[in-house]
Amino acid sequence: MYDFAYHRPKSVADAVALLKGKEEARPMSGGMTLIPTLKQRLARPSDIVDLGAIKELAGIKVEGNNVVIGGMTRHYDVASSADVKAQIPALAALAGHIGDPAVRNRGTMGGSVANNDPAADYPAAVVALNATITTNTGKHAADAFFKGLFETALSEGELITSISFPKAENAAYVKFPNPASRYAMVGVFVAKTAGGVRVAVTGAGPCVFRVKAMEDALAKNFTSAAIKDIKIPADDLNSDIHGSAEYRAHLVGVMARRAVDAANK
Ligand SMILES: Cc1cc2nc3c(=O)[nH]c(=O)nc-3n(C[C@H](O)[C@H](O)[C@H](O)COP(=O)(O)OP(=O)(O)OC[C@H]3O[C@@H](n4cnc5c(N)ncnc54)[C@H](O)[C@@H]3O)c2cc1C
Repeated sequence: MYDFAYHRPKSVADAVALLKGKEEARPMSGGMTLIPTLKQRLARPSDIVDLGAIKELAGIKVEGNNVVIGGMTRHYDVASSADVKAQIPALAALAGHIGDPAVRNRGTMGGSVANNDPAADYPAAVVALNATITTNTGKHAADAFFKGLFETALSEGELITSISFPKAENAAYVKFPNPASRYAMVGVFVAKTAGGVRVAVTGAGPCVFRVKAMEDALAKNFTSAAIKDIKIPADDLNSDIHGSAEYRAHLVGVMARRAVDAANK
């Protein structure tokens, strides 16, 4: 680990001032990804701005038809929230299957979504539920937020303050977890919303993506039978020691059908 200065501001305004005022400052939420990155000397920030003492960033509120989750909210708090369980049970279940208890007690909504790991679970929920990402400078629509491998629409020094998830009529998330880390080899979030059906896939490609052919079929007939013949091309999917692109393409179909069946239970 290289040396860095450590800051623990108490407000978003102070955090943003630090991020803008220092040479190469990085925000830190739970540090679940950032600390290992520093330990391996894969990053050399001049300053770390720890968001952990900013009370306004943590918590869950129900606002009309939306569940609004603060950027510093831990996965455990999403999984165990009575409000999330009542309003969007699929999101609570997703959070409850992230990593292991240590990861769920440190990892955060904002850190996970900002990091945009190709195998992270939350991006599938953000896209399938058509959530809105709020930052200190404005709002991002889900479809325009995840740009590529570990790449998002966030600008330098821009902080995720909260994410607003519209309640779905019917939704479920099913993943095939990596047996060691529990990250998604492939995860599919299926949501029937007021705006139509959305199907978002994580783990399979460089970044979360939607499957239009499945969305169209499910809009007409929300059953797993309606998507049984839809094949996903393997061309742009991830191939690594855990599985080939062809295997992941196959898993997308299986996970999507299981998600629709789970939603219809
Ligand atoms: C062993 C292990 C298993 C895991 N398994 C899973 C899994 O099954 N599914 C899954 O989805 N995830 C999994 N994770 C990831 C975990 O859920 C964390 O959410 C993720 O590592 C990010 O950690 P964090 O929230 O502590 O953010 P940090 O590590 O603090 O930050 C991550 C990145 O986001 C930036 N950042 C942090 N907060 C903000 C913010 N509010 N605004 C803008 N930028 C910000 C940081 O600068 C950094 O670049 C796993 C992690 C580990 C270590």
